Amino acid sequence: MRKIYNIMNFKKFAENLRDTLFPKDITCDICGAEIFDGGHFCKNCAPTVILNDGSTCPVCGRKTARPEICMECKADAPKFRRGISVFVYSGGAAKLILKFKNGGSYLKDYLGALVADKAKTLPHCDCVTFVPVTKKRRRERGYNQGELLAEVISKKLGIPVVRPLIKKRDTPEQKALGKKERLDNLRACFEICDRQSVKGKTVLLADDVLTTGATADEVCRELLIAGAKEIYFATVASVEYSPFPQKTEN
Ligand SMILES: [Zn+2]
Ligand SMILES: [Zn+2]
Repeated sequence: MRKIYNIMNFKKFAENLRDTLFPKDITCDICGAEIFDGGHFCKNCAPTVILNDGSTCPVCGRKTARPEICMECKADAPKFRRGISVFVYSGGAAKLILKFKNGGSYLKDYLGALVADKAKTLPHCDCVTFVPVTKKRRRERGYNQGELLAEVISKKLGIPVVRPLIKKRDTPEQKALGKKERLDNLRACFEICDRQSVKGKTVLLADDVLTTGATADEVCRELLIAGAKEIYFATVASVEYSPFPQKTEN
């Protein structure tokens, strides 16, 4: 009996030692492989995560070939004043966001902190908000990833989260639609429920990804109707600007 006890004790000791030397929950945030040298990504995934720190469009903040206003912003300026994003939406970052949307809510702290850091390059915002989802969608997913981001950003920047809008109805899949079609799809799906929270305020809108900007534009339109002074847009990732856009999710 005593022998068994000792063996178990030793096992526990060995486990503790292992956990100290190699902290347990340190796995790659993208593929789940164990990593032993800290960081968030394994050796295979790390090179596929591209920081959006090269030349960008000074308006929407998407990666561009040259640091100049992209054709889309020139043709149809977004309703937010300026956008910033941490990653280019491709490869590892796209997988990371997919995981964050589908069950990986724990990623909010890491991603929210990154977005908050980059948002410090924007003018001061009075409050932070997010793209609302319908109650039904919220129930199905268990959370709204945009709301989680906004909550983390709120703590990091010391500004309140505001909830001026609700989403009244679910919109059909946006995946295969262009910006104009997406806007039609979104028309009148949001409703203002708290004007006071944004009236006269500079608002930071947080979201996981910027693709065509149609969703952000529709939310900004409502925020401006509600009386927001101006809006800045901060996302985890944004698609690279291309004169020949590919249709992506969101
Ligand atoms: Zn990995
Ligand atoms: Zn642009």
